[in-house]
Amino acid sequence: YQRSIRRQSTLPAETLDGYRIEVQSNIELLEEVPQVLDSGADGVGLYRTEYAFLARRQPPSEQDLCDEYSQVAALMSPRQVVFRTLDVGADKMLREQVRMEEPNPALGLRAIRFCLRHQDVFRTQLRAILRASVHGNVALLFPMISGIQELRQARHILQEVRQELDAEGIPHAPDMPVGIMVELPSAVLIADALAHEVDFFSIGTNDLIQYSLGIDRGNRHVSYLYQPLHPAIVRSIKLVVDSAHRAGISVSVCGEVASDPFCLPILMGMQIDSISIAPQAVPGIKHIIRKTNMEECKTLTRDVLNATTVSTINRMVKETIYNRF
Ligand code: PEP
Ligand code: MG
Repeated sequence: YQRSIRRQSTLPAETLDGYRIEVQSNIELLEEVPQVLDSGADGVGLYRTEYAFLARRQPPSEQDLCDEYSQVAALMSPRQVVFRTLDVGADKMLREQVRMEEPNPALGLRAIRFCLRHQDVFRTQLRAILRASVHGNVALLFPMISGIQELRQARHILQEVRQELDAEGIPHAPDMPVGIMVELPSAVLIADALAHEVDFFSIGTNDLIQYSLGIDRGNRHVSYLYQPLHPAIVRSIKLVVDSAHRAGISVSVCGEVASDPFCLPILMGMQIDSISIAPQAVPGIKHIIRKTNMEECKTLTRDVLNATTVSTINRMVKETIYNRF
């Protein structure tokens, strides 16, 4: 049975009633690319670039980064690779950040905030990603965007870096899509406005749950409250998906919930365009999608959006899943 799931993993993830969902992978290292290709994933939906920085004493050079990103892009081509700019801080600390000793690092100088403060690091990475963009199908993703002005500031720097490369005669893809992680409640509430300024959304549920429910994602004392199917989370995701689609852009879910067979039918019922999950989860999740009826998911999602407690939602999902198998 396992073997037949693996054999079918290169088939598209299409539901019984003909809806196609892209299934991409989350990775952090060049060395993981063969596993992604082997898994049957449709691309890399989230390349977490921070690990190259965390693993070294000194920040990597532009050439180091460009070599790594170009190889990933070329190996995955023509499939897409979404490079997320540096998401350090909180659970992923650089040495200098450890020394800073912020009282609340998860609410501190993290991700895009760190990059806008340390623009030398940011510009180096943007140059490397832009240079790699000619070697495959590359997209760029900004993490932890909290508002329009922050996004515009990041885009402005990207534009300056593009002009710099043009002036130096260094090639880069002029049409590289630019997206944002929607993982803060503020971004959810202004998703309609943000959607007009980017090419795609990627919903980071790991952080969206942490910041919406006020639960430290790494704190075991409150882990019982870390509830992916909390009505507030389900409604937030729905708001983001609808805002994206109204603006004509695509939306992906790249947090852990996307590979949870219990949560996936609800995401599918909202008609997300793609998910990005660990490579080892790809064959099994593609198999589940191929056995699923989208109309059933839509009905489930409609009911779930009216529910007000986690236990009601859990019961609704269980009933749908048990009826099906
Ligand atoms: C997320 O927040 O859901 C996400 C995918 O990013 P990370 O886990 O790297 O913060
Ligand atoms: Mg995140």
